[in-house]
Amino acid sequence: MPDAPTQPRLEATSPFELRVDLGRRIAESDVRASLASGDMGFLHSFTTGSTVDGPGVRVVAWTSGCQWRCRYCHNPDTWKLTNGIPVSIERAAEELRKYRHGLAMMGGGFTLSGGEPLMQHRFAVKLLTSAKGMGIHTALDTNGFYGEMLTDEDLEQVDLVLLDLKAWDAERHIALTGMDNAPTLEFARRLAARRRPVWLRYVLVPGLTDDAGEIAHIAAFAAGLGTVERVDVLPFHQMGKYKWAALGLPYTLPDTEPPDVQVVERTLDAFRSRGLTAY
Ligand code: SF4
Repeated sequence: MPDAPTQPRLEATSPFELRVDLGRRIAESDVRASLASGDMGFLHSFTTGSTVDGPGVRVVAWTSGCQWRCRYCHNPDTWKLTNGIPVSIERAAEELRKYRHGLAMMGGGFTLSGGEPLMQHRFAVKLLTSAKGMGIHTALDTNGFYGEMLTDEDLEQVDLVLLDLKAWDAERHIALTGMDNAPTLEFARRLAARRRPVWLRYVLVPGLTDDAGEIAHIAAFAAGLGTVERVDVLPFHQMGKYKWAALGLPYTLPDTEPPDVQVVERTLDAFRSRGLTAY
């Protein structure tokens, strides 16, 4: 399938740019064929210069498509696959090639994020493999739900998994995301068994994910894995609020403030007290 006739700009200054319907002209059958082959993917955007999506300075490709519905999602325009730009694997790899020397000099790499990248797992593996082939450090930012789609060989193409753990209690997790967390926990255990490095990410939302007991469970689980190199506690913010309004989606956190410094510190301490490095 060729790239769409008029290709929108792939680069964005940040993933907070609202992007909708950029792949709407692609026929359903072509979408299915793309997902099956991985020769074409749907990307919200590419951004450069990130220092928060893995070690060093990163180029980040943000995929579209996510089956979760996190109440605090700051990029709901990535939920729908065809909101993204249809991009051939060759074009995506070419984009990466431009940055390979700079990334090596800055000790950085490439991060595939989303949305949920494993909604397009064949494209994800092809792009990560391509990056590895260029000598670029690779990271995959995922909620882990589709981790079982990756073979053990696929996992070798990922130098680092940024695993988003949203909640510990199963019912709380469903209320927060609409989905079961058992596959995510299972993926975390599999990564540990295969000694794959993990950075755990936890979004801290007042009134939703700041329960001390809940955080203690997650910290114990993370420490027990033995492969979690770092925990990133991500304070909730409202940068994506305007997207919910623009998309006509019901946003349940319009008045929620970022967490207090004390709550952030308490959360970091919960992880550190288990011997984990947390920021
Ligand atoms: S998993 Fe990520 S992209 Fe998907 S709804 Fe949750 S926060 Fe948004």
